[in-house]
Amino acid sequence: MATQQKASDERISQFDHNLLPELSALLGLDAGQLAKELEEKEQKERAKMQKGYNSQMRSEAKRLKTFVTYEPYSSWIPQEMAASGFYFTGVKSGIQCFCCSLILFGAGLTRLPIEDHKRFHPDCGFILNKDVGNIAKYDIRVKNLKSRLRGGKMRYQEEEARLASFRNWPFYVQGISPCVLSEAGFVFTAEFMEAQRL
Ligand SMILES: [Zn+2]
Repeated sequence: MATQQKASDERISQFDHNLLPELSALLGLDAGQLAKELEEKEQKERAKMQKGYNSQMRSEAKRLKTFVTYEPYSSWIPQEMAASGFYFTGVKSGIQCFCCSLILFGAGLTRLPIEDHKRFHPDCGFILNKDVGNIAKYDIRVKNLKSRLRGGKMRYQEEEARLASFRNWPFYVQGISPCVLSEAGFVFTAEFMEAQRL
């Protein structure tokens, strides 16, 4: 995904720069300079962190668990962050999206995590509601036992035809090879990510 390469050197500024002059006057210091220094530090941490799709953090419940060691750094609550695709990285206050690797260190007081996610990475598959393997906390998948094979079973007698059915096998399924499955007589039904044995 294009977003993955971008994540390593992109600059993220969560500060609301319109508010900085006001803040400077209030605190009697240069808030703009302070924000710049802080962002510089965050950028260094961000560059060091691992990027790429993280299939280990597909599950919202699992993401939520990472926040156990999260100090109350921000105004955002763990439930909101996990539901917005983020997990706690364990580095400073860094949270990261399992799908596009976006790393945020702060929280917007007036914005929700999902809003900042959208603002910095509008092209993230999770944000675009694509099938990126997210397992929502209350995701219940009802199984329809009826055969859903298009064209009937006869079509898949040949192993080659079975293998071809795995063309849209989700990229996030790791450790199960379509070759092994088709060899064992399975066909990918493309529904609920399941393979059906003939
Ligand atoms: Zn994302």
